[in-house]
Amino acid sequence: MDDHGSILRSRAERQRQERRKKRLSFRLTLIFTVVTGMSLLLLSGVHLASDSPHTEGKKGRKNTAIALTKHKTIESDQNATKKESHTDEAEKIEVDTDPTSHTVLVNQTHPLPDGYVPPDLVIPDVPFPFRENLPKKQLRREAGEALEQLFAEAEKQGMRLYAQSGYRSYERQKELYAFKGNRAGGAANQVSARPGTSEHQTGLAMDITCSAVGFKLNRSFAQTREGRWVAEHAHQHGFIIRYPEGKEEITGYTYEPWHLRYVGKKMATELKRKNLTLEEYYEVDLQKK
Ligand SMILES: [Zn+2]
Repeated sequence: MDDHGSILRSRAERQRQERRKKRLSFRLTLIFTVVTGMSLLLLSGVHLASDSPHTEGKKGRKNTAIALTKHKTIESDQNATKKESHTDEAEKIEVDTDPTSHTVLVNQTHPLPDGYVPPDLVIPDVPFPFRENLPKKQLRREAGEALEQLFAEAEKQGMRLYAQSGYRSYERQKELYAFKGNRAGGAANQVSARPGTSEHQTGLAMDITCSAVGFKLNRSFAQTREGRWVAEHAHQHGFIIRYPEGKEEITGYTYEPWHLRYVGKKMATELKRKNLTLEEYYEVDLQKK
């Protein structure tokens, strides 16, 4: 009985031990599963955090995970700032209103200061269709030299250009405006600038012509060989066709293929490449006051 009893006890003991082992292995499996699951969750959490830069690391996460998230956040914030200031530079160009600047904007809404006279007027060494020594022969020094180069280049290609009208004083513009205003009625603004708003007063504009149009300033100049060549090459010497065809609403002027404005090679080339007027470049809307 004792033996049998001891056998029974030891069998019961073995069974208990086996049940304990099973429970233990079940617990170990459970712990392993939970730990693995949590690790996976944590890892995917880090991944999510790096995907969305503005997600801050949650409390209780490993320090590295938080550090990673914060680093990413700072980095992407810096990128955003960089991008913002870059687009600001590209989009906001301050309007040049310095009358002595070669890139100054002068139009109906941006008049020159009263009594402004350009500081460095010269008479460029180019052909004029008249002999008299009139003030309108003048241009500012840099613009005058550029005009000489443009005309010399045309000459090389077998074309002779003539300078008809450059610098115009405030007083002279006043006379012209009154004269044209009387003839054109209310439309004077479209054909002649109000005193103070003419580019000719800057000493940076020159009206040019050729013999094929009888040295006149009219639209047929655009159809001449000279006119076509100028439209194509003026920018290489720093000039733009200031009042182009199809942009009348933007510039406030009818098409003037003869009116050259000096802005320097860099800006002239950019405006030509992008097909922009000065108003478009400076984002100035004449309709808004
Ligand atoms: Zn003109």
